[in-house]
Amino acid sequence: MNGPSTVETAERIEVTGLVQGVGFRPFVHRLADELDLDGCVGNDSAKVFIEVAGPSRRIDEFVARLERDAPPLARVDRVVRGRTELTGFGAPGFRIVESAEADGLRTFVAPDTAVCTDCLAEMRDLGDRRFGHPFITCTNCGPRFTIIPDLPYDRPDTTMAAFAMCSRCQAEYTDPSNRRYHAQPIACPECGPTLRWLGPAGPVETTDPVAEAILSLRRGGVVAIKGLGGFHLVCDATNPAAVARLRARKLRPDKPFAVMVARVAAARALAHLDDTELAELDSPARPIVLARARPATPIVPEVAPASPLLGVMLAYTPIHHLLFDAGSPPLVVTSANIAGEPIIHRDEEVGRLLGPVADHLLTHDRAIHAPCDDSVVRVVDGELLPVRRARGYAPIPVRLGEGVVPTLATGGELKNTFCVTSTTHAWVGPHIGDMGTLATLDAFERGVRQFELMYELAPERLAVDAHPAYTVGRWARRNPHVEIVEVQHHHAHVAAVMAEHELHPGTKVVGVAFDGTGYGSDGTVWGGEVFVGDASGFDRVAGLAPVALPGGDAAIENPYRVALALLHSTGVEWGEDLAPVAHAGRRERALLARQLDGGFGCVPTSSMGRLFDAVASLLDLRHTITYEAQAAIELEHLAREDGTGGRRYRFGLRGPVIDPGPVVRAVVADLRAGESRPAIARGFHRAVVDATVQVASGLRADGGPSTVVCSGGVFQNALLVSETRSGLRAAGLRPLMHHLVPPNDGGLALGQAFIASHRPPPGSES
Ligand SMILES: [Zn+2]
Ligand SMILES: [Zn+2]
Repeated sequence: MNGPSTVETAERIEVTGLVQGVGFRPFVHRLADELDLDGCVGNDSAKVFIEVAGPSRRIDEFVARLERDAPPLARVDRVVRGRTELTGFGAPGFRIVESAEADGLRTFVAPDTAVCTDCLAEMRDLGDRRFGHPFITCTNCGPRFTIIPDLPYDRPDTTMAAFAMCSRCQAEYTDPSNRRYHAQPIACPECGPTLRWLGPAGPVETTDPVAEAILSLRRGGVVAIKGLGGFHLVCDATNPAAVARLRARKLRPDKPFAVMVARVAAARALAHLDDTELAELDSPARPIVLARARPATPIVPEVAPASPLLGVMLAYTPIHHLLFDAGSPPLVVTSANIAGEPIIHRDEEVGRLLGPVADHLLTHDRAIHAPCDDSVVRVVDGELLPVRRARGYAPIPVRLGEGVVPTLATGGELKNTFCVTSTTHAWVGPHIGDMGTLATLDAFERGVRQFELMYELAPERLAVDAHPAYTVGRWARRNPHVEIVEVQHHHAHVAAVMAEHELHPGTKVVGVAFDGTGYGSDGTVWGGEVFVGDASGFDRVAGLAPVALPGGDAAIENPYRVALALLHSTGVEWGEDLAPVAHAGRRERALLARQLDGGFGCVPTSSMGRLFDAVASLLDLRHTITYEAQAAIELEHLAREDGTGGRRYRFGLRGPVIDPGPVVRAVVADLRAGESRPAIARGFHRAVVDATVQVASGLRADGGPSTVVCSGGVFQNALLVSETRSGLRAAGLRPLMHHLVPPNDGGLALGQAFIASHRPPPGSES
């Protein structure tokens, strides 16, 4: 026993990081008990604080194990130790004290987490009081970010405040030895939320909503199901009519859907998954993993038409598991939203789903505070490549340094995310959607407000894309109270990679930004740029030769028009044997030719994304698209079919100009010579890689930086990422790619924040 006679010392220890809502205090309690230390542990909004008294050797061990043995969801950022008075430890033993408000930096909020194996075992145990409970959770699992309107993380501050704990839940909640000790979303069938089943005519009385849902799915129905961060639209992935119905109702003709299954074994039966992909699939974040589909599975082709990849994800809420336990087929699971809008997450909005889109609704009365979509990742050569960053990852912070200016970065127009910073960290919000609707701007404003509240942030700067017409940019410029910092689109892309890899803002890098569309510093459309610079600025040292695009952005949906413009600019006749020429038809060609010759309504663009589109059209792969980057994605797939090593093409490198002319002319010649289309697609990819490596090596030879940062939407292409990385390495350079935020515009906000928050105040020396 610890009497005052054995007490040698007392310390106050402060722990910051991801330490709230992850069972950190109970863990500290158990650790102190095990080491027979007296004292207390508490939360405030900035940190976990601990006071311990005991022999100093045991306190040292205690501190070492604080980091080493921390609970699975915790991330310890910093541990600060200091001596304290021995008084106040009169009562032996260790206890948890009430939360206290505090000033200063706020602590981190955990992302939402898949239900854990302990909880699942109880849910399937007939003798357990939570048998079949759809809301089972513990300190190691369940909703976090999506149910927290404010910190500190205590039950009254979550959307669970509406549910008064029963005496048995209360007992577990207050028992330090219980695995639900201080688990805020704790509930049971007696006191927790309940499932509800709705049909077209409204609520339907049933004792088993899960069985009703299975019935509806088996009949080919589309069911809207409330998940962690919003509603999903769900149907039987083995039923072609059901999938076709979902496509028609969601107005989504081509874009692949993801499939949810219960277990790793089921996922492996559908797709080839390597160790990294399996680890990611089965991680607490439970993202959608894009992997190579196996042939001849029960998944119907309508799920992912024209794609050799399949997005797979594992069940992650108790409700999903109850569905699969009750015999659900593999499920198409897609966010319930209307074309580019944010995911629907409020019960008031379900009227928009039921009837027009969903036949039935499986919902419940635990409110979702913050919407959060499913995350999407690819794995390239064993490394993570995020495609959409949301549930399970948001809001993990990125360290920026010390004393930066608190900034709100507003992101881009498509795939918008925002990013807020303190003086030391950046938090990237979850994927919101495509701007341009009131619903998206509303979700943006609400998200920003939530982050500012959670972390007590008051941005002094607003970072905006330089594009004058971006919705969020116009929103930001209406705010007269803070300084606006305009950030060039591709500079932000490059800076996002710098931020992820925690580079010093003054580190000189070669930035390769291959993108669809971005507003250039000269007012034209950029997207095939090579920079040398750092966070403070850049020189555009090389770039794809601009092509005049008739109609500018309107051409994005019509790769054949880009192809015609490219043929025109590279001096190739519009022969009717070429696929885009034949696709256009005589009248449209006559109009386009006049436009191109006169330059009316033509916007010069140096976009690499458009070049991929044009080549896809030349190869007769895709002439018009129904979702972003569709043609380029299909070009990657085609290139992977090549077994010959591909054709050899070379861009013309004339000073700062990367000229696609030689590549385009060679591609046309190969098409006319009847070469294999996959070999041509492969050769085109390799030409882009070779040009990148050649430009970067040339810069290095002239004394430029050895670090080469690659970003922009084109780097969602796994083949390009893989070969660019190995090509740059082979040339003795240091390639850095995205691994935390997506290379597409979803990663823009982090880069904007990195640039703007490090910028010296106006008027100061630079
Ligand atoms: Zn659990
Ligand atoms: Zn209860």
